[in-house]
Amino acid sequence: MSILAQHKYPLSSKHHVYTCLSPCLRTRVHCLATTTTSTKPRPNLDQLVIEPQLNPSQTLVTSPPSRPILNDPSLRSTWAHRAWVASGCTTVMISLAKSIMGAAESHMWLEPILASLVGYILADLGSGVYHWGIDNYGSASTPIFGAQIDAFQGHHKWPWTITRRQFANNLHALARAVTFTVLPMDLASNDPIFLAFVGVCSGCIMFSQQFHAWAHTTKSRLPALVIALQDMGLLVSRSQHADHHRSPYNNNYCIVSGVWNEFLDKQQVFEALEMILFFKLGVRPRSWSEPSSDWTEEIETSSQIAAH
Ligand SMILES: [Zn+2]
Ligand SMILES: [Zn+2]
Repeated sequence: MSILAQHKYPLSSKHHVYTCLSPCLRTRVHCLATTTTSTKPRPNLDQLVIEPQLNPSQTLVTSPPSRPILNDPSLRSTWAHRAWVASGCTTVMISLAKSIMGAAESHMWLEPILASLVGYILADLGSGVYHWGIDNYGSASTPIFGAQIDAFQGHHKWPWTITRRQFANNLHALARAVTFTVLPMDLASNDPIFLAFVGVCSGCIMFSQQFHAWAHTTKSRLPALVIALQDMGLLVSRSQHADHHRSPYNNNYCIVSGVWNEFLDKQQVFEALEMILFFKLGVRPRSWSEPSSDWTEEIETSSQIAAH
């Protein structure tokens, strides 16, 4: 069996990445078991955004060129953003309204309700697959997805900015995608079951960035209803998503309800996909390069924390 062990960092480093070229899917083995992240004290979640804890692998960076600043204009919504969110919401409402009208005409309620449930559950899976893809592959120059890739990869450097990003600014890219893909389906179909599935699934995907923002927001700033939904597991929880932003940065990708995260991570589904892509296309996911400065969070300066 051929095994290529790749140690990018000295033995004193906390994490080492093995790339195992054996047929097994156990592609990454974290050695030095005594220093795995599980032994790290878990930060207070209410401090996660505004008072992140420095760890030895993080460096305090005060002014990199592309770093967003407090009240950065790029975090504000424009009228174009609002227009796209309005069109995305209208598209979802058309799906749901046509589904309800069709169900009322045919006196068929159970099937559309079940289809809605399936749409909600699969939206979480879709959010995870999409998030995994744009976290790990491509760059700002990638056609079509470049802006989203840049935004998600930047999110790992500056996760706190999502809580300051205005609503339409955060949702407009997904709202635009929903408009282009779902509106033609709304016009072409009158099936209440299909429209219920499409409406709920696309609505959850469109709002996944809002659920994501709530997962980064301190509990004291969240509405009680959102906290209750997070605690019930109906929206992705703050603690589950916090694990996504910790080493080894290769888990908990789903950001609607998070219901798929445990299964996907335990079964190493994304690791398997990464291996397939590596052997078929020769592309390495960014998560194999961990720990690198691309993933690690930059800490807010004391002036930014004070201003917050
Ligand atoms: Zn991510
Ligand atoms: Zn996040």
